Amino acid sequence: MTETRQWLLNGHPRGRPINDDDLKLVTTTLPEPGPGQMLLKTHYLGFDPAQKGWMENIADYVAPMAIGDVMRGSGITEVVASNGGKFPVGTMLSGSIVWSEYLIHDGEGLIPCMPELPPTAMLSILGTTGVTAYCGLFKVGEPVAGDVVVVSGAAGATGSIVGQLAKIAGCTVIGIAGGPEKCEWLVKEAGYDHAIDYKAGPIRAQLKELAPHGINVIFDNVGGKILNDMLALIATNARVVICGGISRYETGNLPAGPENYFNLVFRRARMQGFIVLDWASEFPDIRRRLVKWVNEGRLAYREDVQHGFENAPATLQRLFSGSNKGKQLLKL
Ligand code: NAP
Repeated sequence: MTETRQWLLNGHPRGRPINDDDLKLVTTTLPEPGPGQMLLKTHYLGFDPAQKGWMENIADYVAPMAIGDVMRGSGITEVVASNGGKFPVGTMLSGSIVWSEYLIHDGEGLIPCMPELPPTAMLSILGTTGVTAYCGLFKVGEPVAGDVVVVSGAAGATGSIVGQLAKIAGCTVIGIAGGPEKCEWLVKEAGYDHAIDYKAGPIRAQLKELAPHGINVIFDNVGGKILNDMLALIATNARVVICGGISRYETGNLPAGPENYFNLVFRRARMQGFIVLDWASEFPDIRRRLVKWVNEGRLAYREDVQHGFENAPATLQRLFSGSNKGKQLLKL
């Protein structure tokens, strides 16, 4: 019997920011692992803006969450006891878990951490973040060398990888991010050609100056006004990749459609959303490619590690204030 702390869903934050009492910390006792089960100890949690949508039950690609459910997320765990379970004691695993210091698990949906990089990479560059950047850009955006690629949410975990992958593909890359420090980091460290600080004022004129012949690929993490400004400047046959829409995650209503959407007609362009899980069978190959680029020094990734299980809700909220610098993680 193992005592553990867990975070339970205590409110659905629909149309508003996450409140402190939307999640409740409890202590509970886990049973001994049954046949085929393992006791896992959580070392890291990974955070994604989509988790707020799961708390709201807005997304239909995941099962709904009820009040009292243990909060869902991703994590790095270690097998500390096993009753004939799938992985031996000592194995470090990554994948979808719940916010619990210890878990009883049958190993379904978890994979061993790849030895080539530190375990946290399985939540960042080799996790959903890395494969989302890869699939969204290459499978939906279809960049061609010489294209102009514009990324919103560019300094975030996903956006910063998208920009580097677009550089590997031979494109000119412009990032849109909040604040001078993030913009400087994009150009000096993440290999972006240009960065625009959306918090410093309107972006459209700057974007037009930097992409005078139009934008070939938009990779949008943000939606709202930023998407509308980018749509105004698309080139003929542009591909508009809708990865996320964080600017609407805290508002009550769905946003009005972007008024410049009709440019898709004039420019014979395509706008497409995606859910990365649709390419799950390809993740092992994609991860191998990403590891190779990291080891060749062509792909850098940044992780923002907070500390303490009791800080999990506050760590999730960092994504919505833009406080995170790279992939948001929490070390237990
Ligand atoms: P992230 O970009 O590391 O963190 C979120 C960032 O969004 C913040 O750092 C902040 O940066 C920016 N932001 C927050 N509120 C904003 C607002 N109102 N307007 C503009 N920017 C705002 O998060 P991530 O994990 O990499 O996720 C990026 C996006 O990918 C999310 O929308 C997520 O849901 C999506 N996603 C989609 C899939 C898929 O399959 N489609 C899979 C995974 C993730 P600034 O300081 O620059 O504002």
